Amino acid sequence: MASGNAIRGSRVGAGPMGEAERGESAPRNRISFWCANKHETRPSFAAEAAIPDTWDCPRCGFPAGQDQHNPPAPSRNEPYKTHLAYVRERRTDADGEAILAEALAKLRGEI
Ligand SMILES: [Zn+2]
Repeated sequence: MASGNAIRGSRVGAGPMGEAERGESAPRNRISFWCANKHETRPSFAAEAAIPDTWDCPRCGFPAGQDQHNPPAPSRNEPYKTHLAYVRERRTDADGEAILAEALAKLRGEI
């Protein structure tokens, strides 16, 4: 009659909880980035996260790269090019002539 109490007191099945809790200090990588103004920023990334090529410098907003001696060039001041500007740049005079010649050929029934 006393043996039943002994089993109940040991709480069989409530095993140690330590295993699942250990993940709280997941490994993180601290990566240094340098901007063109030589500011260093060291964001940390989860070990399985993809490290970006560039990181925006929190101090000046320039793009920062992982190569301290070759930081990415700040390109923020570059004027934004419209689609039309790209088209104009691409379509040279030679292209225009070729298009014209093709149109003329079509008119003559050569194509
Ligand atoms: Zn900076």
